[in-house]
Amino acid sequence: MDESFIPYARQSIDDDDIAAVAEALRSDWLTQGPRVAAFEEAVAKRAGAKHGIAVATGTAALHAACRAAGVGPGDEVITAPVTFAASGNGALYLGASVRFADIRPDTYCLDPGKLEAAITPRTKAIIPVDQTGQPCDMDEINAIARKHGVKVIEDAAHALGATYKGRPVGGLADMTVFSFHAVKHVTTGEGGMIVTDDDALAAVMRQFRTHGITNDAARMTLADQAADTDTPATAGRNAATPAAWYYEMQDLGFNYRITDIQCALGLSQLAKLDRFVERRREIARRYTEAFAASPVLVVPHQEADRESAWHLYMLRLGLEGMTKTRRQVFDELRAKGIGVHVHYIPLHLQPYYRDRFGTKRGDFPQAEAYYDSALTVPLFPALTDDECGRVIAAVLETVA
Ligand SMILES: *Cc1c(COP(=O)(O)O)cnc(C)c1O
Repeated sequence: MDESFIPYARQSIDDDDIAAVAEALRSDWLTQGPRVAAFEEAVAKRAGAKHGIAVATGTAALHAACRAAGVGPGDEVITAPVTFAASGNGALYLGASVRFADIRPDTYCLDPGKLEAAITPRTKAIIPVDQTGQPCDMDEINAIARKHGVKVIEDAAHALGATYKGRPVGGLADMTVFSFHAVKHVTTGEGGMIVTDDDALAAVMRQFRTHGITNDAARMTLADQAADTDTPATAGRNAATPAAWYYEMQDLGFNYRITDIQCALGLSQLAKLDRFVERRREIARRYTEAFAASPVLVVPHQEADRESAWHLYMLRLGLEGMTKTRRQVFDELRAKGIGVHVHYIPLHLQPYYRDRFGTKRGDFPQAEAYYDSALTVPLFPALTDDECGRVIAAVLETVA
């Protein structure tokens, strides 16, 4: 049997992507040139939002969004325990605490029914995660956020191309964060973006990604210094506009810039988003048809009013009815060349959270029950029909 290993995710890079990057390399701009702005505009348009702010990673995007939401020392943000570490790290970088609300047992997304109990007077933002690519219950979450005067930062790292009640993910929250890591729908290698309709939030994030510096003449705060008329030799000789070299560092930001080289790839990839998402949906349908009949597999539940972008396909194992453990199933499938994975170890069980916040097993029963039985199977646009068949056969054989 000579069958190659099927990873759980893999990027799709074609010759036209390579040509787009080569063209950027031959241009005058390597960083912060026209392709950054074009990519921001294209993603924002696609996501149904006014502004796009491209940054170095999805994690940087979460950090910038938390800063724009005013998250600081002593504040709290709320996210779901079943997510990647990045969902909480943006707030932690700013000196805030992360609290959790448990997930819905069927969608694995933050449960709005659990949200209100987690809100305190220190809560600044809610970060719902569109788990696997299916949008959260955004209407319910937004209503609770509005009632308590907190911002909603949708972690849509899994959900570029998804829709909620016919609207694209990107226009549903105060700020929406995308990732362009290699396993995500559209890649720039590493990269991220925040989209928002809010001019003021966008301005904070643009400044945050480049050291907190602005060179926008309209935003300068020190007129005399800006005009170079505050020195002993020039005092009183007023100039109406800032000097051309002048900039102000008004906030403590970071160097979170993305490059023109990366955005060339992003633009080229974005043009294929519909095709990528359609292929992901096709594979997901095929998996669900094949796995739903198994008495020991639970297939992902999809809400009728939303269309997932299908970043991940997660099964749950009915371990009570099985002789094998999840670990055995996982190891056997890996040995058969199927790149299964587990997404995610609940954040509240990570040593950092246990040590800092005293969280422990038992705190979030739905998240833990989900984690104990979860198994991610390979899903990416370039997965062939044959490989899809191999995954199905191997999973059904292994859990039987
Ligand atoms: C990928 C991902 C991010 C962002 O990760 P980066 O690697 O920094 O782009 C954030 N949240 C979730 C849920 C993710 O899967």
